[in-house]
Amino acid sequence: MKEIINTLNKKIYYIVVAIVIAIMIMGLVMNNPRMSEFDGGYLSHVLMVIILSVCFWIYPKKDTFGLRVTITIAAAVYFYTLFFLYPDTWSNFIFLCFIPALSILFFDKKIFYFSLFLNCLLIMCFFGYIALVDQGPQFSYIEKDIVGNLINFIASQIIIYFIFFLTNGRIKKQQVYYEQIQQSGNLKITGQLAAAVAHEIRNPLTVVKGFLQLFEQDSSFSPDRKGHFTLMIGELNTAEQVISQFLSIAKPENEKAPETVNVKQVLQSVTDLLHSYGHLHDNTIELTVTEDCSISANTIEFKQLLINIIKNAIEASNEGDSVFVSARREKDEVIIKVVDQGQGMTETEVASLGTPFYSLKSKGTGLGMMISFNIVEKYNGKMDFQSAKGQGTTVTISFPAI
Ligand code: ADP
Ligand code: MG
Repeated sequence: MKEIINTLNKKIYYIVVAIVIAIMIMGLVMNNPRMSEFDGGYLSHVLMVIILSVCFWIYPKKDTFGLRVTITIAAAVYFYTLFFLYPDTWSNFIFLCFIPALSILFFDKKIFYFSLFLNCLLIMCFFGYIALVDQGPQFSYIEKDIVGNLINFIASQIIIYFIFFLTNGRIKKQQVYYEQIQQSGNLKITGQLAAAVAHEIRNPLTVVKGFLQLFEQDSSFSPDRKGHFTLMIGELNTAEQVISQFLSIAKPENEKAPETVNVKQVLQSVTDLLHSYGHLHDNTIELTVTEDCSISANTIEFKQLLINIIKNAIEASNEGDSVFVSARREKDEVIIKVVDQGQGMTETEVASLGTPFYSLKSKGTGLGMMISFNIVEKYNGKMDFQSAKGQGTTVTISFPAI
């Protein structure tokens, strides 16, 4: 019910509750056969109306599990009280069937099952009472066809269960969707910030590199020193490259026009780039690629995709293992495979790939796969994972060939 309060309006909730309370009071005072007697039965009816009204009224301010359970129990007691106090009003039986429906509004599995169980238990007791004790004078409409009424009751509970099952599933899906939207919003802001920072870092790097290039040509430095300068310039070049690649991702969509990409050339340059990364743990990259592989994509994005996938394969590999990268043309498609014999993934882990910030690594960002899926989708490609825990992973990416 909290959801209803949030999405619609508190006002509407209070209007509905006011109407419900008014109806309950009407039931108390209008043409009530017990009102003139004013006995214990009537007083318990009054008491239940008061309890329920208070619970409904304070619910938006104090939405706790305890209050939800109290409302569920109070509603059940209220309807059973009505059923017993006014045996001539046969329509009270309908409300008994609806008791679990009320708890659907809380979207709480536990409370729903609790009310369903409670209702079935109580109805059994009351059918037992009608069949064995009352035997007809008060509840003749039930007593005449106990089996038929029981079947109807069970059917109503099954229908309510089904409604709960479907709504609950749908609500859960919506919740996941909502969280994803929120996450992607966060991601956008983080991306923009990171792009701004990267841009600011690039400028001082250029200045430092310029001076180092000057020193490199200065004859007053010994060849030994100059060697150091060359090394430093090389490292700065790498840093610059990383930042440029990163900034290219953060750029708006329309600035990245698709072009004809020679898959062999790109794979060659990416594997060259990652060779030294693989050497950290003694991993090598084995590349086999045929000549006839061209696709339509943006080269930088395509590189980024391959870097993400191959880097993950290296990181998952055991020391000394190789990562096999291959590309070939098959009819109208270019198929790229990245195979590792590393730690692999379970089915649930594979299903989580692409979720922002999903990472099992201590220093992982969990963004690589999300970016990769976006790039693949953008150029009408497909990406498929075959993985077994402890045995390794095969990533198959296919793009339309040109
Ligand atoms: P990160 O690499 O920063 O953790 P990614 O989005 O690139 O983020 O990857 C998400 C997660 O998917 C990784 O943390 C890892 O658990 C899993 N993963 C991706 N590729 C592989 C692979 N080839 N083998 C095993 N696990 C992988
Ligand atoms: Mg990664």
